[in-house]
Amino acid sequence: MSQNKNKVIAHRGAWKNTSATENSIAALENAIKLKCYGSEFDVHMSADSVLFVHHDHAVKGTDIEKTNSTELLQIKLENGENLPTLEAYLKAGAKQKNTRLILEIKTSSISKERSLALTEKCVEMVKKLKVEGITDYIAFDYDVCLKVKQLAPNAHVEYLNGDKTPAEIKAAGLSGVDYHFTVFKKNENWIKEMHQLNLSTNTWTVNDEPVMKWFLDQNVDFITTNEPELLLKISK
Ligand code: MG
Repeated sequence: MSQNKNKVIAHRGAWKNTSATENSIAALENAIKLKCYGSEFDVHMSADSVLFVHHDHAVKGTDIEKTNSTELLQIKLENGENLPTLEAYLKAGAKQKNTRLILEIKTSSISKERSLALTEKCVEMVKKLKVEGITDYIAFDYDVCLKVKQLAPNAHVEYLNGDKTPAEIKAAGLSGVDYHFTVFKKNENWIKEMHQLNLSTNTWTVNDEPVMKWFLDQNVDFITTNEPELLLKISK
């Protein structure tokens, strides 16, 4: 394995300082070129159960969950790419092994059932494309995190919502947390406590140098950022 050894996770890919649109395949490819540890992206499910990569629930005014895939496939991103399916996204990521694919399962705006159905489909697609070895999962919905662990016990799964203690995360069998930076600032012992429990620590979304440096001093495992170039430079 030639996994990149750094703490940098590009949030929605590397897009801010490039011509790529966030969550585009180009943004993933830029993060790979930069040699980031990981590149994060967000996944939703269309009305007819096809998975698409996008941050918001709607893309150009079209609600992904309430629209069929044939219509969604027509949508172009700002950089000219089609709205990527998860399948296309993972296939682009599968061309290499150095940058991990950090797959965020978005919470459905319709129902818990749809969040869990999306979870099953994500795990299924990751297996089908044989990218289990380079894919990690994150989610705000605790039940989604537990479901991934149940479906893929070896998967690395981090919880996003910031409201579970190190002991609770350990007891649930999750791999670690990816918490907003203010949560770690409020609970200054959590990074240390997580490490004592062999849990991983990741924080979002840190774009300012002083905050990056604070987390580097705390020896956080990963920092998710819109400024991967800056973080790579200062964490060397
Ligand atoms: Mg995300």
